[in-house]
Formats: sequence, structure tokens, C-alpha cells
Amino acid sequence: FLITLEGGEGVGKSTQVRRLVARLEAAGRRALATREPGGSAKAEAIRGLLLSGAVAPFGPAAEALLFAAARVDHLDRLIRPALAQGTIVVSDRFIDSTRVYQGIDRRVEPRFLVALETVTVGATRPDLTIILDLPSAVGLARAAARRAPSAIPDRFEREALAFHDGLRRGFLTIAAAEPDRCAVVDAEASADEAAERIWRVVETRLLT
Ligand code: C5P
Repeated sequence: FLITLEGGEGVGKSTQVRRLVARLEAAGRRALATREPGGSAKAEAIRGLLLSGAVAPFGPAAEALLFAAARVDHLDRLIRPALAQGTIVVSDRFIDSTRVYQGIDRRVEPRFLVALETVTVGATRPDLTIILDLPSAVGLARAAARRAPSAIPDRFEREALAFHDGLRRGFLTIAAAEPDRCAVVDAEASADEAAERIWRVVETRLLT
């Protein structure tokens, strides 16, 4: 199975990916945590280009292609080989982040993104996508709190609340349109509570 965790800034995706993998392993399943952009050596290098701020920002279409290039390498080197061995892959972000960030934030043409998604992922679609949902102000505050005081906020975290609201609506719209694939989990409660809710969804939808 391919399980993806999605959501805006500060919703706790990386914590929940780790916890879900630990829980799957405790239940006797082989599981692997990964993330996007990144997950393979070359994709992590592209992540560095996209997020370091050391280079001038790419235009929306060029950025979308770089995310896509990273995803192709991640799929070829890590995701598909793991799935072929029966390992459950749990990814922190995947196609829905592209739909929302490149589609809504950067306004890349929808047809271009649909075509890109088709050629990059092919038949390797998530079996289950957990959308972690949080009021935007809470996510923003969490993202700011976890940053070291001296760290420069990345360009997304500097954006206004309206931007975060737009991301949140984008993820919720996807969940409503694809209820068979997606489950929305309230991430405002404690990490323990969110982990419990995620586990219940994974158990009922995939493991039983
Ligand atoms: O998940 P994480 O916070 O590590 O993601 C790194 C950054 O990349 C985030 O700020 C996110 O907004 C951005 N991103 C993006 N487009 C994607 C995936 C992530 O703009 N497709």
C-alpha cells in the first residue's frame, strides 16, 4: 500500500508519518517512511534547490517541473521498489501537495498539472490519503513555534493567513471530491489523539 499524509503548514505530518510507520511495524507489517519533495538522493538534491532560498525562486512552471522530476526519481528509486516487496510506504506529502501548492498558490495551469501528474505517477496512486486538517491560524502558530528563533521563515511560512486558508480549502476540496481515497483527520487535538485517529482510519480502510 501507498499511504500519503497531506495538509498545510504545521499540521504535524512528519510526526504522524513516523508514528504511523512505528505502529504498522508493531502490528507486524513492513513499513517505510518517506517524504516529498525528497525521499531519494536526487530528489533530496532537488528539494535543496527548491527550498534553500539560496537560488532565485523558479517561475511557477519551472518549479512544477522540478517537483515532478523529484517525484519521478523518488518513485523509481524508492517507492515502487518498496511497494513491489510488499512494504507499506508512508509519504509525508505527495500529489495533493502539488495540486494545492502549485495549482492554487502558484496558479500553474490546471491542464498542465493534470498532464504532469499523469506522466509522473502513472498507475502508482495512493491507496489512502490522510488529510490532516487544522484551523490555519493554529498551523501557522505551530510552524512558527517549531522554528529556531534565528531561523529565517521559508517563503511559505511568511505568507499571510489568507494564503494558509486557501491551502486548507484546497486540501478539503480534494478530500470531498475523492472520498474513497481521502480521509480528513482533525489535527487540532494532541499528537497522541491524532495518531490514534489516523490508526483507526488505516485499520478500517486498509488492514481489515
Ligand atoms: O512538508 P514540508 O514542510 O517539509 O515541505 C517543505 C515546503 O515545500 C513547504 O513549505 C511546502 O509549502 C512546500 N511544498 C510546495 N509544493 C509541494 C510540496 C511542498 O510548495 N508540492
